[in-house]
Amino acid sequence: MTHEATHDVIIVGGGIAGLTIAWELARAGRDVVLLEASDDAGGMLRRGVAAGLEVDLGAESFATRTTGVADLVADARLPVQLVEPAPGGAHVAFRRRSGRVDRAPLPRRALVGMPAEPLAADVVRILGRRGARRAAQERLLPTPVGAEPSLAELTTSRFGARVTARLVEPLCRSVYSQSAESVRLSSLHPVLWEKAQAAGSLTAAVDALAPAVRAGSAVRGVEGGLWRLAAELEAVALRAGAVIRTGTPVRAVTATSVDLGHETLSAASVVIATGPTAAAELLGVDVALAPPVGLVVAEVASDGFDAFPVGSGVIAAPEIDCAAKALTHVDAKWQWAAAALPAGSHLVRLSAREGRHDELTDAAGAAAAIRTLTGVRVSPGDVRRVVPVSWPDAVATPPVRQAVAAAAAERGIRLAGAVAAGTGLASVIPHARALACGLTTPPTPSEGVRHVH
Ligand SMILES: Cc1cc2nc3c(=O)[nH]c(=O)nc-3n(C[C@H](O)[C@H](O)[C@H](O)COP(=O)(O)OP(=O)(O)OC[C@H]3O[C@@H](n4cnc5c(N)ncnc54)[C@H](O)[C@@H]3O)c2cc1C
Repeated sequence: MTHEATHDVIIVGGGIAGLTIAWELARAGRDVVLLEASDDAGGMLRRGVAAGLEVDLGAESFATRTTGVADLVADARLPVQLVEPAPGGAHVAFRRRSGRVDRAPLPRRALVGMPAEPLAADVVRILGRRGARRAAQERLLPTPVGAEPSLAELTTSRFGARVTARLVEPLCRSVYSQSAESVRLSSLHPVLWEKAQAAGSLTAAVDALAPAVRAGSAVRGVEGGLWRLAAELEAVALRAGAVIRTGTPVRAVTATSVDLGHETLSAASVVIATGPTAAAELLGVDVALAPPVGLVVAEVASDGFDAFPVGSGVIAAPEIDCAAKALTHVDAKWQWAAAALPAGSHLVRLSAREGRHDELTDAAGAAAAIRTLTGVRVSPGDVRRVVPVSWPDAVATPPVRQAVAAAAAERGIRLAGAVAAGTGLASVIPHARALACGLTTPPTPSEGVRHVH
């Protein structure tokens, strides 16, 4: 069946990627329609309420390794205030050989858990002297060339097993929701991988690229919550003329049409900006489902948190038996949250380990995880309220990304969002803006000729 193109562009999915493209196209005068399955746009930038405060139930900060978010805020004149997290950074919890759980600040200079200065005191504190000496040998090894192993194999063979267990794996699982065994450095941090080959070692590459700030502080947030970024962008896109239809799940797509079940819309171009599994389904790609990402936000009344015992939060080494893999102490990290909470009240976000979200959704389970990760004596009675949230389509594994990208290219459908750009706003937003730019720029004469033939 053919359709007359009734719109310039249809975007499927109203997360930050879809909203960015909708705004860019609308301000360029294009007729753009965004279709969002759920009742609200924003995707993984979602507002919730805990302790009477509006808080993030999805992403809560963005990496400053690109200027993507700040540029968008400036260019779209979004009325949001970008803020720095409180200094102090995050901790890692690990098990000493004695069996005791210890917690230490993450190394001041590291990338993806790899230390720039393996013999620095903050690295020795985590790895022990032997582990640190082994890690320091990485610089002396031959340049990493040839077929790239998994990140876990790479860091174990080059820095030793302790760097993988106490730094790389906890970071990988908490930040990227993937095991270091299932990812490659070149997909997680391509610049670092390239630099390692040019500089001769991973240590030299990290040394050259790592910001001189503590891990966990190379991020920024939005005063009042990151969800405001999506809410304000939606408002600006609407004012620019974009049509945004929420509660509108798309069932099928072609390069020039979308099927809503009861209605078919057509356009010159279609962009898929959904999560990875939804994109795979729309493109007819058979992929293994990634597990959901589970989270709880808990209000805790305990003066043990008044002194910020684990800085902005803590990530757990895999050997620690805990239903949570990471904890963020929200009001230690964000001054706006501290100012808004009543005295003695604290907010923590617990990120669940795979398959263990249910253990965190009541006060007893949340209190147990908080005790293990922070060492603060929190009883179930101290946990006032637990807000659980599950993200079923948050993880884009490398095989899914490859399969989806190939299917989209083959069918002439544009692909945006984390499935195309990689996880995180610092990647997703610049990618979405570049894609929108490609849709608004008229083809060059030579491209025009290619279309004709
Ligand atoms: C708990 C959590 C914490 C995170 N923390 C951070 C962080 O601190 N910093 C950071 O940078 N990133 C973080 N991320 C990742 C970040 O949120 C994502 O990379 C980013 O928001 C992805 O945006 P997106 O637009 O690609 O996808 P999404 O936000 O997933 O949006 C996709 C949209 O498509 C819609 N959709 C799906 N199927 C259909 C369909 N068939 N028809 C119509 N619509 C459909 C969905 O409802 C959704 O609204 C976090 C993610 C989670 C889950």
